[in-house]
Amino acid sequence: MRLVRRAPSAPAVAVVGAGIAGLSAARALTAHGFAVQVYDRGRRPGGRCSTRRTSHGTFDHGAQYFTARDPRFAAEMARLQQAGHVAAWPGRIVALEGGAATGTAPCARYVGLPTMDALVTQLAAGQTIRQQVNVAAAHADERGWSLVAASGAALGRFDGLVLALPPEQALPLVPRRLALRATLRTQASAPCWALLLAFDAPLPLDFDGAFVTDAALGWMARDSAKPARGDGERWVAHASPAWSAARLHLDAEVVAAELVDAFWRATGLAPRRPCYRAAHRWALARPDAEAPGTPCEAELAIAACGDWCHGGRIEGAWLSGIEAGEAVARALRGAAPGRAGAGA
Ligand SMILES: Cc1cc2nc3c(=O)[nH]c(=O)nc-3n(C[C@H](O)[C@H](O)[C@H](O)COP(=O)(O)OP(=O)(O)OC[C@H]3O[C@@H](n4cnc5c(N)ncnc54)[C@H](O)[C@@H]3O)c2cc1C
Repeated sequence: MRLVRRAPSAPAVAVVGAGIAGLSAARALTAHGFAVQVYDRGRRPGGRCSTRRTSHGTFDHGAQYFTARDPRFAAEMARLQQAGHVAAWPGRIVALEGGAATGTAPCARYVGLPTMDALVTQLAAGQTIRQQVNVAAAHADERGWSLVAASGAALGRFDGLVLALPPEQALPLVPRRLALRATLRTQASAPCWALLLAFDAPLPLDFDGAFVTDAALGWMARDSAKPARGDGERWVAHASPAWSAARLHLDAEVVAAELVDAFWRATGLAPRRPCYRAAHRWALARPDAEAPGTPCEAELAIAACGDWCHGGRIEGAWLSGIEAGEAVARALRGAAPGRAGAGA
């Protein structure tokens, strides 16, 4: 009998979470030649870097803009800027207290074009992503990882695993014996209620974004003033973590009504009727603990990543994703043949 030698296939890595971190991890792994499968439970990729589309126009209701300090991230964003997917946001950003605005230190801010989720679309290009899959369990044995969806469906076997999720969502997926659980337990996320408002006429405010000192609000921005946002007068306001936590489980309509009052109080304008109003609950909005770096257990080729590893911003999520991808790639390259064999 003649033995048929199977063509060696690339080791497979699953990435759970298609936010900025998961997508940058997937890109790093793909660049190393691994077969990458991304799962995300949302309807579309992006996580907290997403855009709501309404009949009154678009709202960047999560991440507002990003900064680029690390040279690797800055280079990637310069590439996207050149290709027309990212633009500088030269808006006037102030500090706002009791209706009085004062200037803030200059800072280079960037946004996705024509909306923040353009960044996601670019990072997702060429990746194999399955949306609306809620990964409920991950099991490790000597042959690698197997994932199970909340529906009970087996999602297949993988040589490596990247959990690109907020820590509270990553923890249930990590098997009990892993040290990674201890790192995840040191982490926590704070919530944020977002208010979305559209008006028929421009508001008489001479700024585009404001860091707000107020009992309820922490930030507001004229979303329609960002580059390429089209016509209209659209604002997004973010409630402070403490205010949001105290109202986390209230109905969105109740919260919207309270936030609208806070919006007028903070701007000092007389209230006027919005033509669109909505509130969005971000239950795990921003990391609320010291960043631990990007943890990896090389023996099992598992890494966790996300903004919580690297400073709570888009840039940190991207960097953490790259680090997780690189760490799992290194782990699989050094692994015994039974587990994965050579990767790149
Ligand atoms: C209100 C708000 C304002 C912000 N403003 C800014 C800003 O101005 N500038 C800035 O730089 N950053 C800002 N941020 C932070 C920025 O949005 C995040 O740092 C970044 O988007 C986090 O990306 P991530 O990939 O780490 O996580 P996420 O974006 O949370 O991605 C996690 C993904 O995992 C998926 N998921 C979760 N559980 C499962 C599961 N069990 N199975 C499958 N999929 C799952 C989710 O659907 C999600 O897509 C803001 C965030 C919020 C909420």
